[in-house]
Amino acid sequence: MSSLVDLRRFSLPELESMVAERGLPAFRYRQMARWLYGKAAASIDEMTDLSLDLRTELSRDYEVGGLEVVAERTSQVDRTRKFLFRLQDGRSVESVLMPLGRRYTLCISSQVGCTLDCVFCDTGRMGFLRNLEAWEIVGQVIPLWREIRAERDDKVRTNIVFMGMGEPLHNTDAVIEACRLLTDPLGLHLRPKGITVSTAGGIAGMRKLADSGLGVRLAVSLNATTQEERERLMPKAAKVPLLELVAAARDYAERTNDRATMEYVLMRGVNDRPEDADRLGDLFRGGPFKINLIPYNPGGNGQLERPDREAVDAFARRLYPQAPVVTVRWSMGPDIAAACGQLKTEVERTTPPAA
Ligand code: SF4
Repeated sequence: MSSLVDLRRFSLPELESMVAERGLPAFRYRQMARWLYGKAAASIDEMTDLSLDLRTELSRDYEVGGLEVVAERTSQVDRTRKFLFRLQDGRSVESVLMPLGRRYTLCISSQVGCTLDCVFCDTGRMGFLRNLEAWEIVGQVIPLWREIRAERDDKVRTNIVFMGMGEPLHNTDAVIEACRLLTDPLGLHLRPKGITVSTAGGIAGMRKLADSGLGVRLAVSLNATTQEERERLMPKAAKVPLLELVAAARDYAERTNDRATMEYVLMRGVNDRPEDADRLGDLFRGGPFKINLIPYNPGGNGQLERPDREAVDAFARRLYPQAPVVTVRWSMGPDIAAACGQLKTEVERTTPPAA
């Protein structure tokens, strides 16, 4: 194992302190931060506006490491790419890169596994292993950011969604720190409204995220229109009563002058009936909300099915006049196990355990 310190583990204040402690001028901090994040440099050698002597000196103590991609799949249907990253403790997490026209959406993980065990989710079935640190969250973006930068023109937008493995608002401090790095002009300098944190019900975390002043977007994984149905689909998340969750999302939206997105995974015969559409409309009529319908992406749960296109259209049409904004998001990468937790589950099922 390398004895060098990985610069990717540093927050911006830590990088600044390191530069000051070495007696380097402050502008060196800004140069290094730009190389590490904006330009996603893969080595100290790439930091060509540092003198050769300084690069040599830094290379005695530091390296540019980050997370290692151990599996990658590209969809033949829509160019969605799914990545399995190995963490430095040998555990792994998933990220998905979805290209859509001139926009990239990158779905990242905030935990290894998840405590919440929602019945429709492969990550939930893994159990919970640990929280990711902020640098590990941003570390999923860096290798992909490097590629996006290489091929993009200035009009291409990059969005980040915290909809991968884990409940982000059970790891709120690290998620906030990661969002700071993603939006800081010396970090990746992304638009706050291009970042969406999706929660199944972390009310305390929603308040903390609003207090942070970052102004990132909020999505709530709702999936049911009654408390009883939610307790069946998301037994642990539903400990937060449905109406309290809706009130907390409204509060977040009002504080950030935005709409909160309600994610609703449509499962055939479970929550796709006309009365579900009507209750959904009643819950959100006239509020600062957007409803995102997501036809279920079949994974390891053999019991649940995706409704057919006609049923999804009928649900959306019934809901549309009642709700403020309704969108339908068909899952991308259907041929590469692109839903949350599916690649990790598949790789672990097909990879013999290490001796
Ligand atoms: S859907 Fe989200 S909150 Fe529920 S188990 Fe999966 S990762 Fe956790």
